[in-house]
Amino acid sequence: MWCSLPVASPASQLCSYCQQALPTLSHQQCHFNLLWLPAVARGLKDAKFDRLLCLAHYQQPFQHWIPRWKYHTDLAAGQLLQQQMCLLLARAKAGNMLMPQALTYVPLHWRKQHQRGFNQAQLLAEALAEHLQLPVLTLFSKSAGTSQRGLNRRQRLRNLRRTFTLKAIPQALPQHIALIDDVITTGATANALTRLLRRAGVHTISVWTLAVTPAPGYSD
Ligand SMILES: [Zn+2]
Repeated sequence: MWCSLPVASPASQLCSYCQQALPTLSHQQCHFNLLWLPAVARGLKDAKFDRLLCLAHYQQPFQHWIPRWKYHTDLAAGQLLQQQMCLLLARAKAGNMLMPQALTYVPLHWRKQHQRGFNQAQLLAEALAEHLQLPVLTLFSKSAGTSQRGLNRRQRLRNLRRTFTLKAIPQALPQHIALIDDVITTGATANALTRLLRRAGVHTISVWTLAVTPAPGYSD
């Protein structure tokens, strides 16, 4: 998926050199919670969730693979990203990261999902749940919402909150849920969904994404 060298097994999408060369974050240093890593936390000062796990900053080659999967339905790119996330989770588990009891995902509006044919956050959640042997809960729905154009920050936030609703759930939710999305940028969506989960009695909310947008002024 990156160079033209042969891979070790048909299932792997990267050769060992590319695997070694992938950008990453200092997961060990922050005990697999990137909110404790200043380089990431600076860009997510208002984070309402408790923990954050992602592969890397939104940079190459993730900046290439993620849109390939999302907008061009490149399933090999999707598979590669899911594999990378599973590898990271295996390391996190071995490093005693606090594990959730269930996974959920950021919804797409039905019209968008119909156009695209899939919700990448849901596919990612399903792949990770299978790897971890955990259930995936479909908890949220998203309405079309009104345009964010011309609104100030406060109005945008209120507008965003109105966009998401928690579905009626028959049983009590687990204490710790991981919310899956493809990329975290400002954290506003994750915050809005975190708020809904907390109101429903969830104690710990982890956010797991493929990449995080670097804080302004960040340089490698
Ligand atoms: Zn390679």
